[in-house]
Amino acid sequence: MTTEQATNGLEAAQAVLADEQAHLFRGWVQQGAYRGMPVQGAQGSWFWDYAGNRFLDFSSQLVYANLGHQHPRLVAAVKEQADRLCVIAPHFAEASRSTAARKIAEVAPEGLDRVLFTNSGSEAIENAVRLARLHTGRHKLLSAYHSFHGATSTAIHLTGDPRRWRNDTGAAGVSRFFAPYLYRSAFYSETEEQECARALDHLEQVIVLEGAQTIAAIVFEPIGGTSSGVLIPPDGYLAGVRELCDRYGIMLVLDEVMVGFGRTGTWFAADHWGVRPDLITFAKGVNSGYLPLSGVIISDEIVETFSKTPYPGGTTYSGQPMACAVAVAAIDTMRDEGVLEHAARLGRDVFGPELAKIAERHPCVGEVRGIGAMWAIELVKNKETREMYIGYDAPDRFSPQGAELMGAFMSRGLNLMVYLNRVNITPPCNISEADARDGLARIDDALSVADQHCT
Ligand code: PLP
Repeated sequence: MTTEQATNGLEAAQAVLADEQAHLFRGWVQQGAYRGMPVQGAQGSWFWDYAGNRFLDFSSQLVYANLGHQHPRLVAAVKEQADRLCVIAPHFAEASRSTAARKIAEVAPEGLDRVLFTNSGSEAIENAVRLARLHTGRHKLLSAYHSFHGATSTAIHLTGDPRRWRNDTGAAGVSRFFAPYLYRSAFYSETEEQECARALDHLEQVIVLEGAQTIAAIVFEPIGGTSSGVLIPPDGYLAGVRELCDRYGIMLVLDEVMVGFGRTGTWFAADHWGVRPDLITFAKGVNSGYLPLSGVIISDEIVETFSKTPYPGGTTYSGQPMACAVAVAAIDTMRDEGVLEHAARLGRDVFGPELAKIAERHPCVGEVRGIGAMWAIELVKNKETREMYIGYDAPDRFSPQGAELMGAFMSRGLNLMVYLNRVNITPPCNISEADARDGLARIDDALSVADQHCT
């Protein structure tokens, strides 16, 4: 039976699964061993399967549905653009594309006024790096160990986390450094101030020893995303990195793919410290992922380089009009509905205080941290030793411990990502306070499964 022949929900779900098992090649997983749950529909912060089981989406899918599911203004934008103009190539001028570029530039820091549209976060990274290399005439790149920058060639080499390991040919010219992470400090720091100063000293040493004059860019998530550990740098760190970049003629590429467009309660995570990078990569929240869209916001100085010579890059679907129309609607909606302020308040008044209580109650919780609508619970086997609950030998949700915990959440109607030794909480930025509290109560209950394995 195929999906088209199915006459009821159960048959439809089985047909979806059968087609998927036979014909879909999934990224990141072992083929055949993984079965995706068939999803029938979604609304707001919830989605449901064919049997009518509802799940609270505490991950915004892969941290992109910042305005939740089926937001009426985003759906209307898709329909309007589809009626008007579905496709037009990048070399023509088009209203939604030009409006999206203007609105993105308006929320970006001063002096970053132009947008190169791409179709995924990884592509945005590839292009940001290419822009930086051509602008500086240098090749080498620096990135942090606790980082994720995508799955394409340069992007996966920039990535610090274990997904790089089997992809790393060493060919991309990337060296890595330790960024601040006080809970597991690489510098034996005991305070945020120490961690900040020592991490900056370390970064400067890496720059000097790698040959400052060979380094094109530092690629950095201003607030580490869910793959990187939801790491919020201490005050002064980002400004310090900016200062080192200026001193050594290095471009600062801030990867805002996950943390941009409302996730941390601001347009961009770097806004928390008022730091102006040379290049910003964005994707996900720019249009809540209703259609693929990403890009690079480029500083005036770098644009100037390419006013003298063509930029040797571009893609067929750059600035796809339907995707851009949703970006326009998403930015307007975030502003009109006060979504940034809402996310900031939820972080301050709900997630922060409630997760602190959860941390006290559970032996498996080493630390909770986060901001706005992005939080992590760092799991440990033992609070004193801080031994990781899921270590680098089994670094994902498909480890037995990760699968058990994911099962505990799903059986409580909660969609949550477990990655490495962290539970990541990233609901839609416009989730209601009631739903946020509901999800936290389900987490509180489910964590008892992990508590059993603690010493
Ligand atoms: N950069 C960051 C910070 C990300 O979180 C991601 C994806 O999660 C990427 C880049 C890659 O984006 P994509 O999967 O759209 O290629």
